[in-house]
Amino acid sequence: MGCDLLVISKHSFKTMITLLAFAFIPQPIFILLFIFVFIFALYAQMRVSSAYSKNVQIPSRGHITGREAAEAVMGRAGIDDVEIVEIPGHLTDHYDPLNKQLCLSSENYRGTSLAALGVAAHESGHAIQHKVGYKALQARMALIPATQITSQILPIVIIGGFFFGGIGGIMLDIGIICYAVLTLFQLITLPVEFDASRRAKVELVGLGILDRDEMPGVNETLDAAALTYVAAFITALLHLLWLLSMRRNN
Ligand SMILES: [Zn+2]
Repeated sequence: MGCDLLVISKHSFKTMITLLAFAFIPQPIFILLFIFVFIFALYAQMRVSSAYSKNVQIPSRGHITGREAAEAVMGRAGIDDVEIVEIPGHLTDHYDPLNKQLCLSSENYRGTSLAALGVAAHESGHAIQHKVGYKALQARMALIPATQITSQILPIVIIGGFFFGGIGGIMLDIGIICYAVLTLFQLITLPVEFDASRRAKVELVGLGILDRDEMPGVNETLDAAALTYVAAFITALLHLLWLLSMRRNN
């Protein structure tokens, strides 16, 4: 799996460089693109905050908690080896495939709101992906070590570039490899997140946890969250294109 991914990422890296040899983006356009992407990322973040804070105040009619919803969704999928744990923090909810833990923030663990049920069912969607061997989730997991190394190297590259008057040579190449890894990771994250939300919406109605007319609150919350993943992807992609164009100009 890891080897396949390396080949794929090497291939897409070469494709990117070839593409850029033909499609040259002038610097002023990059500045505009960075401003656009920055505003889009801010907008996505604001939409998540407002959608969540609105729907966390709307209790579901069934009064089922996030924990109970996660139990029901995973139970129907035949998952009995995933532990549901309550964790501190705001919107810190995640599924940990390595430790087989479904971590829900207190608000969503104990809450019966539309937002809490949406988030709990979404994380359960990841547990289902793990159980059924959903390819995009496996690819994403395989890339995690590479992203961890990348996040340690990138600050050195950026600080190095700052002190030596711009990134160039080997530093630039390392920066490009780092952003290629991050861009690929964010790209693979998109189907993983969209699919988890799709599963969540189907299960919440299918299990009778929520009525159909309660779904707009769930949809609003999960769709806003999906937008932040799109923003993260285009942010990484733009950095990659920018570094590639620098390399071309060197
Ligand atoms: Zn997710």
